[in-house]
Amino acid sequence: MIGMLALLLMAQTQQTQQWPQHSMDRPRPPVVNPGPERPPAPAPSDAVVLFDGSNLSQWRAQDSTAAKWIVKDGYVEVKPRTGMLVSARGFGDVQLHIEWRTPTPPEGESQERGNSGVFLMGIYELQVLDSYQNDTYPDGQAGAIYGENPPLVNATRPPGQWQAYDVIFHRPHFKADGSVERPARMTVFLNGVLIQDNFELVGPTANQARPPYKMHPDKLPLKLQDHGNPIRYRNIWVRELE
Ligand code: MG
Repeated sequence: MIGMLALLLMAQTQQTQQWPQHSMDRPRPPVVNPGPERPPAPAPSDAVVLFDGSNLSQWRAQDSTAAKWIVKDGYVEVKPRTGMLVSARGFGDVQLHIEWRTPTPPEGESQERGNSGVFLMGIYELQVLDSYQNDTYPDGQAGAIYGENPPLVNATRPPGQWQAYDVIFHRPHFKADGSVERPARMTVFLNGVLIQDNFELVGPTANQARPPYKMHPDKLPLKLQDHGNPIRYRNIWVRELE
């Protein structure tokens, strides 16, 4: 029994390694209907609320000036070409809740349709994309650890509907000499459906590159990506786990 389990684990590991980064030949994750759109999930009492729909006091622009994204009707929308939205505070290990909505009617295809991203510690991207009937490379679709691991399933809702990520993130640990003691790990639910199961990141996420880990502080700001598309976010809160 244990032997079989070990073989299965080996087969799984080999499967994740056999596909080149951004491979279009890779099988697409099965589509799962997560059920109807839900109202915002209330923040628990010990959560740090980063965005409650009213203002961007917890956020900055990349150059530390005032945040430039648009706040309206309880959401914040990417203002294209103003750069990433950066949390004023830094975080390490967290439980993160964040809701997002891609534009309707959808525009563009593949990576150009509803692209944004949630960057844990500003370095490790959980992809945001309109992946509802929009084909792209699996390690770049919604719920992918960008360029590293596709989601287990595609549990996205149609564009224009609110979706939610619930993330458990453990930061990497470094030895004094800068080498990696423990890689970062991410577990993610999309719309209540498990899509990343304690995935061990191989390094910072990147496009057409696999950069190695580089030593960094234990806490760094959360960043949301401006990829030129007017993605909306709402109800963002974190629980610190360290
Ligand atoms: Mg992105």
